Order: sequence, then structure tokens, then C-alpha cells
Amino acid sequence: MGKIILTGDRPTGRLHVGHYVGSLRRRVELQNTGDFEKVFIMIADAQALTDNADNPEKVRQNVVEVALDYLSVGLDPAKSTLFVQSQIPELTELTFYYMNLVTVSRLQRNPTVKSEIAMRNFETSIPVGFFCYPISQAADITAFDATTVPVGEDQEPMIEQTREIVRKFNSVYGDTLVEPEILLPDNAACLRLPGTDGKAKMSKSLGNCIYLSDDEDTVWQKIRNMFTDPNHLRVSDPGKVEGNPVFLYLDAFSRPEHFAEYLPDYASLDELKDHYRRGGLGDVKVKKFLNAVLQETLAPIRARRAQYEKDIPYVYEVLKKGSETAEEQAANTLARVKRAMKINYFEDAALIAEQAEFYKTK
Ligand code: ATP
Ligand code: MG
Repeated sequence: MGKIILTGDRPTGRLHVGHYVGSLRRRVELQNTGDFEKVFIMIADAQALTDNADNPEKVRQNVVEVALDYLSVGLDPAKSTLFVQSQIPELTELTFYYMNLVTVSRLQRNPTVKSEIAMRNFETSIPVGFFCYPISQAADITAFDATTVPVGEDQEPMIEQTREIVRKFNSVYGDTLVEPEILLPDNAACLRLPGTDGKAKMSKSLGNCIYLSDDEDTVWQKIRNMFTDPNHLRVSDPGKVEGNPVFLYLDAFSRPEHFAEYLPDYASLDELKDHYRRGGLGDVKVKKFLNAVLQETLAPIRARRAQYEKDIPYVYEVLKKGSETAEEQAANTLARVKRAMKINYFEDAALIAEQAEFYKTK
């Protein structure tokens, strides 16, 4: 069987440059290599509702925003199936069965869930659905027989949880599910892009994002106000590159040819970093360079978005068609799962005949 991709995003806001380097850019490349038999890209609205139950309108409004971001980065409905999680009821059913294979203490140990609980101030009032979302993510991945999940580093514990569920399921019910592999960005800075405020992760929920759809001026304002090395006060001061978001963004986005084009005094990022460390290089100069690099990356994305924004019914049509295709695939997997779990009573003529025979001869 060929390789299959499943990945997605929560419709809790527009997508940002952290999503781009952590997952979106890679997806588009993989979609275009032709190495994958199928590519499934999911808008995880049901998962978004697990911590936004009281704000369904937010989730509803952001479905189309995420879809617009997908199309504008180059995800192509002719090559990738773009779909909406809640429209595939089979995923919920799989989740229900997988819940029996996971313990509460195992979920409590998940470091990403732990930090997300802290971030959302849930403390003791954690919604059960939110607590179980790693299980529902296992359903999303396995429903499509995904072999490959291209995501950022924060998803590592989720994929590990999925692998455990697959192994458990297969050992109890026989070989049924495919064990997926995580595909992390090669570039360390892209594993978890920090926020413009210097916080560990750029995240829709933290409001520290540069969005793919931000206009030119907004991008520059955000870069201009970006956190850098707080001890680099005067241009002549030596500066710190490590943990400095401006340099981490350059690690993630800049390419050698950008120097020739926008900052010819330096041959490479290493040279620029060395100068910053030595002192004598001002933040504004580095930020202007980052701005040039980011604007170059974002300009074509923005332009495509403007086109798709003119035809919202088309965007919904893409999602509807994709959801139909996705449901077909998930239904096949669910049937396989139910057969393995022996909960396929009505399609099992032998079972009915055997029991009929038993009662006849009793
Ligand atoms: P939320 O705050 O609602 O969870 P989010 O910004 O974390 O939103 P998700 O939809 O949870 O975004 O994540 C979608 C994908 O983007 C995942 O693969 C995740 O690993 C990746 N991702 C999210 N933020 C970053 C980041 N800052 N750097 C790299 N990858 C990221
Ligand atoms: Mg997240």
C-alpha cells in the first residue's frame, strides 16, 4: 500500500507563519512530489469545540478562514482532500471504541495536554472532551490509514499516543490499523516557532502571531515591535542570538539568495549573527531584513487569498466534496474496525446461522 498523509489544523483563528514553517510548507511540497497515494488535510472543528464549547461561532467563522489559508499556500484540491472533521461521524465512533484502550493516567501524563490545560486555566474544570482529544486525534489519523503525519513538535506526544492505540488495538483485535509516523520539520527553528512576544510558541490562542493574511503594513508593525535581546540596548552592545525570535525567524525563513538581494553586506546568516554577537549591529537593520524576507514569502500567499476571497461558495464546495471523499474512506476503516471487534452482527451470516442452528438443536 502507498503512503498516505493526514494532518490538519484547528479552526480557532487564521493560520500564522508558525503553521507555515511547522507544517503547511511541508504539506504543499509533499503534495506536489507525487510520492503519496493520498493526502488528507482536515479542519479540526470538532477538536476546536473541545475547548471552545461556549463559543461555537468562533469555530464556525474560522472554518472558511483556515480553508482560505490552505488554498492560498498552495494546497490543491485536485491533489489533496480538504475536509471538515465534524462532517465525518465515523471519526466520533472510532474515538468511542479507542477510549477503552487508553487509561486516564496515560492521558494525564501527556505533556502537551498538560501545558494546554495550564494555558487555558482549566485547572480542575477540564472538559472531558478536551481531555480526550488525543484519542480523537488517533481516530482522525487511523481512519485514513495515514502512514505520515507532518506536524510541529508540539504534536509529538499525540502521535506517540496514536501509535500506542494502534499497537494495543492490533494486539487485542488482530492486525487492523496502520501505525503512523510523525514527520517533523528538518530545520530546528521550524519545530516550534516562538511568538513575536518571545514566548515559546506562536499560537493563535496567545495572540502573538504574524498571520499569513496580515497585510504588508501589519507585518512590518509586528516585526518592528518584536521582542529581541532585552540586553541589547545600544547598537554597539554585544547581542544574543540564541532564543532571540528575530534570528529564529531568520533561521526559519531566510535563504542564502535573500542576502544578495536585500542585505549584500553579509554573505550569510552566520555572518549576520556573528556581527550581532560582536556588537555594532542594530535591531532595526536586522528587523528590516526579516521584513523583506517575510514580505517576499507572504506576497504570493496574500495575492492568492484575495482571489479565493472573491469566491467563498467555491471554497465551501471544495470542503463539501473533500468531506464526501473523506467519509467514504473513514467508513471503510470503521467497517474493518467493527469486523475486528466483532460488532458487525448483521453482516455476519455465519454467526446468525450458527446461533439459529444451536437453538434448533437445543
Ligand atoms: P491553538 O492555540 O488553537 O491550539 P495553534 O496555533 O496551536 O492553535 P493548531 O491548529 O493547534 O495551531 O496546530 C496546527 C499545526 O501547526 C500543528 O501541526 C502544529 O504542530 C503546528 N504549529 C502550531 N504552532 C506552531 C509553531 N509555533 N511552530 C511550528 N509549528 C506550529
Ligand atoms: Mg495547538
